[in-house]
Amino acid sequence: MKKTVRDVEVRGKRALVRCDFNVPMQDGKITDDIRITSALPTIKYLIDHGAKVILMSHMGRPKGEAKMEYTLKPVAERLEELLGQAVSFISVPEVVNQQIVDAAGALKEGQVMLLENVRFRKEETKNEAGFAKELAQLGEIFVNDAFGTAHRAHCSTAGVADYLPAVSGFLIEKEVKFLGDALENPQRPFVAIMGGAKVGDKIPVIENLLKKVDTLIIGGGMSYTFFKAMGLEIGTSILDEDSIGLAGELIKKAESAGVKLVLPVDVVCAKEFDNNSEKKVCDRENIPSDMMGMDIGPKSVQLISDELAKAKTVVWNGPAGVFEMPNFAEGTKKIAEALANSQATTIIGGGDSAAAVEQFGFADKMTHISTGGGASLEFLEGKALPGIAVLEEK
Ligand code: AMP
Repeated sequence: MKKTVRDVEVRGKRALVRCDFNVPMQDGKITDDIRITSALPTIKYLIDHGAKVILMSHMGRPKGEAKMEYTLKPVAERLEELLGQAVSFISVPEVVNQQIVDAAGALKEGQVMLLENVRFRKEETKNEAGFAKELAQLGEIFVNDAFGTAHRAHCSTAGVADYLPAVSGFLIEKEVKFLGDALENPQRPFVAIMGGAKVGDKIPVIENLLKKVDTLIIGGGMSYTFFKAMGLEIGTSILDEDSIGLAGELIKKAESAGVKLVLPVDVVCAKEFDNNSEKKVCDRENIPSDMMGMDIGPKSVQLISDELAKAKTVVWNGPAGVFEMPNFAEGTKKIAEALANSQATTIIGGGDSAAAVEQFGFADKMTHISTGGGASLEFLEGKALPGIAVLEEK
């Protein structure tokens, strides 16, 4: 078990906190502040317990330069409103300089400051010791609460822990609890649903999940690579040629591991990759040569819903179809609905499945929606995430 802010004395200490304030922006305005509101519990805890709070984050990809369209100033302003107290923000291109060191040293208990975008420094994403040391000198304890970047070994996510005792905030604690418990100690039956388009990316995840789950459901664009491996014709559906062999091996591995592998039995096909394209439902054996599979069909929805109804733990990563197009969103929506109505512990991987659950209005019905797309995939793959590996053990 990793230490959290609750396990250390924070009163009177300078807490250097890595948050994920990588919020979407348009014309200099924040369009969605969920990442900021999600960080509040940890920040408020630190304020209430008398820490001197120094926040840091990246935003966008300024690529090591102080490009002011990526300044964290709007985040500082939003934070002030949400916290109802001043958040000191000094924008310097080098992120840390003597003025920042002095400002951090002058903080009083319960006061908050925010550093400029850590990716203004090119050393950040290379995890160079020099910049990690510059950041670390500002604090006396490091709190990592940015799950979305925990799979990256950067100065602000991992490097600083070489110089400071490191603990997690509440967001990372929650991610590790739900994703970790699902993998190591699931209530059974444990069912995983994998979808999306990039089968190559997800093969290592499927391999790891095959060692853990009772049932593995595959949907979305990656199904067609599996169909091909089964010798079926897939028309013009999306195909990852390089992964056909691996898909075939995974089918065999599932069999020998005693894992029930569920693939769609019917699909909604279309002539073009277009919401308004002519569409029809076909069994997977009868996909016309001039059509592509865009969504799972009604028989598959039923089959998958039946499996989900038996589950006690479900992990879902990747949509069942091209859910961004309303005419091909039904399969993904029905899966989200089945999970919303289920009594199981439901864990939604970040990225597209999280977006789908939000879009269809089921977000508050899920046990846990991961805040990190890439990070949750690497976690499910069984990899040690650098930003979590550096945290102290209890
Ligand atoms: P990924 O990034 O691998 O999780 O893939 C997510 C994307 O897969 C979404 O943008 C979906 O539109 C897309 N997708 C899902 N099903 C299909 C399909 N049958 N054909 C093409 N793309 C799909």
